[in-house]
Amino acid sequence: PALGAVDLEHVVEGALSLFAQRIADERIEVLRAVPPGLRVRAEEVRLEQVLVNLIANAMDAVHDAATRRIEIRAHREGEHVSIEIADSGTGIGDAQRSDIFDPFFTTKPPGSGLGLGLSLSFNIIRDFGGRLLLKRSSPAGSLFAIELSEAA
Ligand code: ADP
Ligand code: MG
Repeated sequence: PALGAVDLEHVVEGALSLFAQRIADERIEVLRAVPPGLRVRAEEVRLEQVLVNLIANAMDAVHDAATRRIEIRAHREGEHVSIEIADSGTGIGDAQRSDIFDPFFTTKPPGSGLGLGLSLSFNIIRDFGGRLLLKRSSPAGSLFAIELSEAA
């Protein structure tokens, strides 16, 4: 892929802007902590697609939760940049953890999820030389992390 230096704050705002209506309608609290000027090695359009997938999942997860909060944070961690998408949703059961990155795995009703978001996202981040992982999940929510190289 044609990897370049992608401004993280810009791509996070771009992804979130697609959800503006839903965020307002469902009264979802969105917090972000992305350092200005932080840049990662990626392809902008495909990184935005990954963020859209993770944010969409977070929105679905908080829909029936007592607290509807989504948090997007980024920070340098040694050689790489870690981008975290956390939600206050209902979490992912132990039995499902090993399946969520498989193509067509979904727990959503027919017509609402194809089960492709996480598998596509996993492959995109791998193409960037990075990692996409579920860092933790409990009945109080989930936290996904994207690890990418910082752009020079
Ligand atoms: P889809 O959203 O179409 O179901 P995904 O590949 O995006 O497909 O996600 C696969 C499954 O992983 C979801 O159906 C859901 O069970 C689980 N999942 C993903 N993200 C979250 C999340 N933030 N909270 C709870 N479950 C999640
Ligand atoms: Mg999805």
